[in-house]
Amino acid sequence: MIPAELKPAVPLAPLTTLGVGGPASWYGEVETPERLRAVLAFARDRGLPLQLLGGGSNVLIADAGLDAVVVRYLDQNLSFSDAGSRVEALCGAGVAWVSLVEQAVARDLAGIECLAGIPGLAGAAPMQNIGAYGQEVADVLRSVDVVDRQTGEAGSFDAADCGFGYRMSNFKGAWAGRYVVTGIRISLLRGGPPALRYAELARAAEGEPSLVGVAATVVALRRRKAMVLDPAVADSRSAGSFFTNPILSEEAAEAVAEAALRAVGQAVPSWPAGEGRRKLAAAWLIEKSGTRKGERCGGAAISSRHALALCNAGGATAAELVALASRVRGRVRDAFGVSLEPEPRFLGFESDVNALLG
Ligand SMILES: Cc1cc2nc3c(=O)[nH]c(=O)nc-3n(C[C@H](O)[C@H](O)[C@H](O)COP(=O)(O)OP(=O)(O)OC[C@H]3O[C@@H](n4cnc5c(N)ncnc54)[C@H](O)[C@@H]3O)c2cc1C
Repeated sequence: MIPAELKPAVPLAPLTTLGVGGPASWYGEVETPERLRAVLAFARDRGLPLQLLGGGSNVLIADAGLDAVVVRYLDQNLSFSDAGSRVEALCGAGVAWVSLVEQAVARDLAGIECLAGIPGLAGAAPMQNIGAYGQEVADVLRSVDVVDRQTGEAGSFDAADCGFGYRMSNFKGAWAGRYVVTGIRISLLRGGPPALRYAELARAAEGEPSLVGVAATVVALRRRKAMVLDPAVADSRSAGSFFTNPILSEEAAEAVAEAALRAVGQAVPSWPAGEGRRKLAAAWLIEKSGTRKGERCGGAAISSRHALALCNAGGATAAELVALASRVRGRVRDAFGVSLEPEPRFLGFESDVNALLG
């Protein structure tokens, strides 16, 4: 039996922020574990893979689409409960992340104010441990509720077991494809001070003591880089940062720094990234290797406001975005000897990401 939620041949491009990609064989939206199980059973009976989609803000879908059952888990329940000096928010996977942040800061709850303006749904936040301006969701996450796609059973993981790192988690790594996130539980500090760890934010928010004010400052900073969604701004039709900042051993980072000095006579911006490791600025590497903001490949373009974002400047195809990403990555590797890793998930492509991007 076909679950009532599922429709055949549904275009996916409008469900993504890049606005590219072909249709799904089947697409539907569910709000409860019971309905999710019905969809899981359907996919299994048809021998089709199940593909989760949230707000579509961190995916690149192939032009041919997905021969899969694509499902969005849209439980939008959100509740706050007192836990001593802290407040716990229980948040369904379908709650818009921006809405969660807005509600938290309006209640004077500290912990996610720097994550204002990040598109997508709460259920995807643990996937790559979303982060910005000195905060990441792992800082406040207590647990993640899931349904096991193999058994259909509901369960919960303590945040400490989820393998969170920079733009990484077990959900994206070791457990990839195993669980549907149905909700998250985060712990926020009532009346806590805003986190002003990031120099650019600390400067912009100087004299601004409120969480609401700092969240608004973050959104204003992001808007300048077209890193908030705005239908009127083509540069924001992106998947956010297309590449992560490379994290290398001190030795490898030194080799890149020397290559940078030879090639452009400047030091590559970098930061300590834990025991014996450094994080390098991907946007700097991209620009210094010869990629220009606004550079095009058909309808795909480098954002004119942020070299790290690839956007759909109008009528882009997934193939054009892949070609542009490949060009960017090739230049950085040729100039500095480091291979940038893409941040969005590539869905429906026949080759793996490294084969696609070269
Ligand atoms: C303009 C812009 C700015 C951005 N800025 C940032 C930023 O500052 N920091 C940052 O970290 N990210 C940023 N992003 C990336 C993106 O917004 C986040 O990664 C976000 O968490 C993705 O959420 P989503 O709901 O859109 O997920 P999707 O893109 O729909 O999915 C992403 C991945 O998560 C999986 N997934 C989604 N929902 C579930 C679920 N319920 N259960 C299991 N798997 C699921 C999908 O299968 C896919 O693999 C930005 C994106 C854009 C477009």
